[in-house]
Amino acid sequence: MLIARTINDLNTARATLGAALGFVPTMGALHEGHLALIEAAKANGAKVATSIFVNPTQFGPNEDFSRYPRTEDADLEKLAAAGCHLVWLPNVATMYPPNAATTITLTGPATNWEGAIRPGHFAGVATVVAKLFGQVRPSHAYFGEKDFQQVQVITRMVSDLLLPVEIIAIPTIREPDGLALSSRNRFLSPEDRARAPMLYATLRTAATAISAREDVTKTIDSACNNLTAAGLAPDYFNLVDARSLEPITSLTAPARILAAAKLGPIRLLDNIAVG
Ligand code: AMP
Repeated sequence: MLIARTINDLNTARATLGAALGFVPTMGALHEGHLALIEAAKANGAKVATSIFVNPTQFGPNEDFSRYPRTEDADLEKLAAAGCHLVWLPNVATMYPPNAATTITLTGPATNWEGAIRPGHFAGVATVVAKLFGQVRPSHAYFGEKDFQQVQVITRMVSDLLLPVEIIAIPTIREPDGLALSSRNRFLSPEDRARAPMLYATLRTAATAISAREDVTKTIDSACNNLTAAGLAPDYFNLVDARSLEPITSLTAPARILAAAKLGPIRLLDNIAVG
């Protein structure tokens, strides 16, 4: 496995990998969800590159940038075992030179949900992903549906900016009890960890009800009440058009329920297809 920490090393390594290259951008603290993206990239037949970069610009001032888990040695072992061909480990100065004057501005699918609650988050994500695409020059890039809004934002950016890369979305990997794997789950206390599967259980119940043509507003109210009663504090729980991410009040295909809820020190994010 090639490991690059400078642009020069990256360019040398990239030149050995051929035109078709699958790319999996991550912030490290790798788990089975990340590895599923690498598996999907490998299954596509091309070589695979992964980046690990905890991107400061996608964290708000009161968010957990300094506390975000950093487990580089374990990550590199997992990537080697998964058959990754190249790991790109840039530092902050490489990604954000002091004279940088360009940031991607987003509307459309970036507007609501995480975009409203975390101002600047998707601008940080889109800008760093565009830079990583420019550095790594992948033919395909893999993103998890766990962050469903992020997939739509990146897909839209690639389309709007005519970037020569195909975005592929991979289904969410879950614990046996339904909790979506996340690097931040390690911060849950045992009590909160026991409550956490309630988010996906509630999404499933709501998706079944809406698919059976039950009233959308009542279903969502009842889902939020159930979450609150279980000790989760929902930030949002909404039925949306799966492409525009605009809220909808009756079922039109394809639709998705997007949800985020605070639980102890973290926010849980999850979503489900409907219909
Ligand atoms: P992160 O390191 O959290 O920025 O995530 C890197 C990539 O892994 C993103 O495309 C995420 O959507 C994806 N990812 C994170 N958790 C999961 C999961 N449980 N299942 C599938 N993909 C995931």
